[in-house]
Amino acid sequence: MWEGLFFFSSKKHDNERLFFLFCFSIYIGAVTTLTAFSIDPSKGATMANFNTHISVAAAGSGLATIICTASFHLAVFDACLLCLLGIIAGLLPDIDSDHSVPIKWMFRLLTVLALLAVLIFTASLPPLYLLGSLCTTALLMHFVVFKLFKKMTIHRGLFHSVPAALLFGLLILWLGKYLLHWSLMFSWLAAAFACGGYLLHLILDELFSVDLLGGQLKDSFGSALTIFSPVSWYAYLILYAAVFTGFVLLPMPAAVTSII
Ligand SMILES: [Zn+2]
Repeated sequence: MWEGLFFFSSKKHDNERLFFLFCFSIYIGAVTTLTAFSIDPSKGATMANFNTHISVAAAGSGLATIICTASFHLAVFDACLLCLLGIIAGLLPDIDSDHSVPIKWMFRLLTVLALLAVLIFTASLPPLYLLGSLCTTALLMHFVVFKLFKKMTIHRGLFHSVPAALLFGLLILWLGKYLLHWSLMFSWLAAAFACGGYLLHLILDELFSVDLLGGQLKDSFGSALTIFSPVSWYAYLILYAAVFTGFVLLPMPAAVTSII
């Protein structure tokens, strides 16, 4: 009965205490950001913006982390990793929007990674050549790769679709299992957080397509949680083929293989 009262004073519960504080801070952060919600009640919500997405992703991912930590007895670091993954996945679909915050972050990160790769592979070059190759890489990333990506993607296109969410989950499963050598159970858990966070973003976009005050659907309705589009049928076929291949080739969790 008194166990709860001593929760924060016992050294035995250090891990649990740290984790609880982490989840709590996520919620506080989410609630604070929600207050910055840019909704004019007289006009109704227009679109889910970056603040809305990060708040909902943090709240959803934080709640899922608490449930999974209690169910699977996860370590604090693993729990934080899953929570962060869910939040990033909840922001990712908007990389197809040319001026969104996620696309800026993604390209900054990619540029830093590309520069690091160049630095590692050309470390033996004379300083002037090294500087030249670093500048060329930075310019290539900004003026070629970034511009090409923007040109090839349209907002609420393939990135805002259910197969894209599934594929992202499978990609995380593959990365976790074969590159980072996580256990199969944790890799599937990470895949579920990635896919879940991504789907949460799409659902939120669709919810904002309903004009609750006017009782109408906006033009954007049906453009976020897309299952198939006849306009770009070939792209969807490739996407579904990749998802199917992933499900066939990647190892299933023990709970599924025992049923099969
Ligand atoms: Zn979106």
